Parts: sequence; structure tokens; C-alpha cells
Amino acid sequence: MTKLRILTYPDPVLAKKAEPVAEITPEIKQLIDDMVQTMYESDGVGLAAPQVGHSIRLITLDDTGPKERKNPMVILNPVFSDCTGKKESEESCLSLPTFTCKVNRFDSVTVKGMNEKGEDIEVKAEGLLAIILQHECDHLEGKTLVDHASRLKRTMYDTKVKKWQKD
Ligand SMILES: [Zn+2]
Repeated sequence: MTKLRILTYPDPVLAKKAEPVAEITPEIKQLIDDMVQTMYESDGVGLAAPQVGHSIRLITLDDTGPKERKNPMVILNPVFSDCTGKKESEESCLSLPTFTCKVNRFDSVTVKGMNEKGEDIEVKAEGLLAIILQHECDHLEGKTLVDHASRLKRTMYDTKVKKWQKD
């Protein structure tokens, strides 16, 4: 398994709508393994394929975190149904170093999709797991936390990122 390079904002791949995955090829299998590894080694609870440069509808997550690693999950072509309740969550993202932002999320969600074996799955989630699912699926729509932030907050981050690029 390889630790992949995580793209950071404003890489254009992060702003693109990702394409559905038609079948689990050996290349996709390899990508899934590498993404899970990369997520854990980067201290993350979730990762979306566009974050590692693949504009396809694939996410990996584990709400127990990189220390416990008890609930690794892979979902291809995720689609939401039955989203209920409201919750404000403070989030960060591996693609947005130092950035945090309060986001309005659903409290509980149901996601349908396909697992790494190509089987249909349905995941009912609430709390942290529901939030991670919504965060990662945002990435598949080309949306990141900066799109949830106020214009001022985004402008300030843009300035910071430009300064990093110069240094
Ligand atoms: Zn993210």
C-alpha cells in the first residue's frame, strides 16, 4: 500500500464534480487500499477520491479514527436518502490546512451505494458518522469547507494560501 499525496485547495480537481464508478477494477481496488492507508496515516476520519487526484465517486471513512481503526468503510457512488434533523458541526479538512469552519449538517442520514466488493449497501448513520458522510460526499460535488464559509472567511484563507504558494 502506498500513502498518496493529498491535494490541497485551490487545486482544480477539488472543485470538479466527480464521475460515477461503473465497476470495481483492479486499479480501483488498489486505489481503495491506498486511500484507506492514506486516510489513517494522515490522521483523518474520511477521504474522498478527488482529494488524491481521482475525480470519481468513491469515499473512505472511519468514525473511530486512525488510532482505533475499528470501523473502516468504503462507499462508491453514494446517494443520500432520508436526511433528518439539523446539527451545527465544526469541521476541518485534510485538503484545507489550518482551516476550520462551522457547517450546518443533517443530524441523521441514510446513504445507499456500493461497497468495495461491488455489493449494494445501505448505511444509516447519525452523529459523527453522519457528518463525515456529508463532508466526504460534498467533495464528490466539487464542494469543500470554504464553500460553506462566509465570504470574509474565505477571502482571508485565500490570502493565506497565496502567501504559502509564494514562500
Ligand atoms: Zn474534506
